[in-house]
Amino acid sequence: MATSRPAGTSPCPSCRQPRAAGKYLCGDCWSALPGPARTALNRRGNRATALHRLQELHRQLAAGVPLTRIEISP
Ligand SMILES: [Zn+2]
Repeated sequence: MATSRPAGTSPCPSCRQPRAAGKYLCGDCWSALPGPARTALNRRGNRATALHRLQELHRQLAAGVPLTRIEISP
């Protein structure tokens, strides 16, 4: 049973395209993020700080900040 949109995978919060499970954004949007933002989002930390960074990302997306201008706390 092949499916292009596996159940349980939410779309990219930026462009609404399907994204890979476990990723914050689809590949196109991820590659548009500034390097420092990607580094911060990839950093392994405790759940609270990881969640905080994800909320920073979502807040900026909701505010209409362009992907190339998004900043995430290190
Ligand atoms: Zn996207």
